[in-house]
Amino acid sequence: MADNDIKNLREALKHSPDNVPLLLHLAAILLVQSKLQEAEKEYKKVLRLEPQNTLAKLGLAKTYLQKKEGSTAIIILEELVRVTPQNRDARLMLSKAFLREGSVAEAQEQYEQLLKQDPDFRDDELDSRLRQRAATPLFDDDDDDDDFDFDGEEEIFREMEKPDITFSDVGGMEDVKREIELKIIRPVQHPELYEAYGKKTGGGILLYGPPGCGKTHLARATAGEVNAGFMSVGINDILDMWIGSSERNLHELFEGARANTPCVLFFDEVDALGASRSDMRQSSGRHLINQFLSELDGVDADNEGLLILAATNAPWHLDPAFRRPGRFDRIVFVPPPDVAGRIAIMKILLQKKPVDNIDYEAIARKTEEFSGADLRAAMDMAIEEKLQSSFKTGIAEPITTKDMLQAVKKMRPSTQEWFGSARNYALYANDSGLYDDILRYLKIKK
Ligand code: ADP
Repeated sequence: MADNDIKNLREALKHSPDNVPLLLHLAAILLVQSKLQEAEKEYKKVLRLEPQNTLAKLGLAKTYLQKKEGSTAIIILEELVRVTPQNRDARLMLSKAFLREGSVAEAQEQYEQLLKQDPDFRDDELDSRLRQRAATPLFDDDDDDDDFDFDGEEEIFREMEKPDITFSDVGGMEDVKREIELKIIRPVQHPELYEAYGKKTGGGILLYGPPGCGKTHLARATAGEVNAGFMSVGINDILDMWIGSSERNLHELFEGARANTPCVLFFDEVDALGASRSDMRQSSGRHLINQFLSELDGVDADNEGLLILAATNAPWHLDPAFRRPGRFDRIVFVPPPDVAGRIAIMKILLQKKPVDNIDYEAIARKTEEFSGADLRAAMDMAIEEKLQSSFKTGIAEPITTKDMLQAVKKMRPSTQEWFGSARNYALYANDSGLYDDILRYLKIKK
């Protein structure tokens, strides 16, 4: 069948030898048939006609790879990736070509780029080979060895900030603030008192709840409150560590924070790290979790001066090992703000803005279930409308209650969707009443 196709295509090409789609088609069939010399010839013909033809370059690289001429394939693919950095196929093939040539660091770099461009992308071969390698030390601990430099340290230090907000910039959340004060701030400020009473310190607080309700904002404000540094570690950093030289990077991250105490170390979407997902339990994923837990426990180092907070929208995905004493043993629900909270948030948001005698209470009553982020979006919308009319008059007109109410009317609270799934976990996976707060919020339980 394929032979017949080849014959027919060659026949057709006799009549139109410069027909690029026909040539590509023929080359692809030859490649599948492992007629590598002939495939190479056809791809080269295309490139003479169209020197930038991406498909021909990819095909030719693939042909070279099959001919075990990996280094030639790499030259073509590197050029392709340089010209079209978003070309996923080229990067994927380049990563595999490097791997086959034994250049693991380069393979890893390309795969990492791919994952940066498309975090949902996965390739089984690269996943298993690169991660397996990461699980067993690939390199000695020689600092000159930059084969595996994932910019880890650099990024970590870039991420250290000194927030200029404090608890007074966070509206409502009084219970959570109190909890942080007691469990996190005081032990750092008065370690000797805790010691005198033989009270253990250490461990962190895990904040959970619908998105946009101020978890990150409050963590940042905690740092400002005690004039400490703030280091936020997000899912992407974690993913980088997962596929990279994971354990070492994670250790260095903690060390970076320890060297800069007092410092709030904030893990955003911590469920991604402590996921009860089977893939994270394997090989380097499991290693990384264990490493994280021993860093939290302060097994090999002193965590004094570290204020550890984490946030998640999906606490049910968190590995239970994270909740043991001395780790995230306080789990605090951050609900959408109540009326008083919404008033406080709006006052903060509208501070220093031109406003006209706003009836905060009236707006708060119309914004049931709104998150802090929703209120902020409503305010932005009101300001935009005001700007439009101000352009006409040339005067910065003050924002009124009516403007805010109009904006609010166009919105729906973003927290509802979260409660849709949270309700089920709270009802059916509520081990030892962990999620009772959700049930209370939903008035299912008193
Ligand atoms: P989360 O981490 O819970 O998803 P964020 O802390 O990122 O939510 O909140 C998003 C934005 O909404 C914040 O940057 C802040 O501007 C605003 N916001 C949310 N909650 C509050 C609050 N309680 N007080 C003041 N601003 C808030």
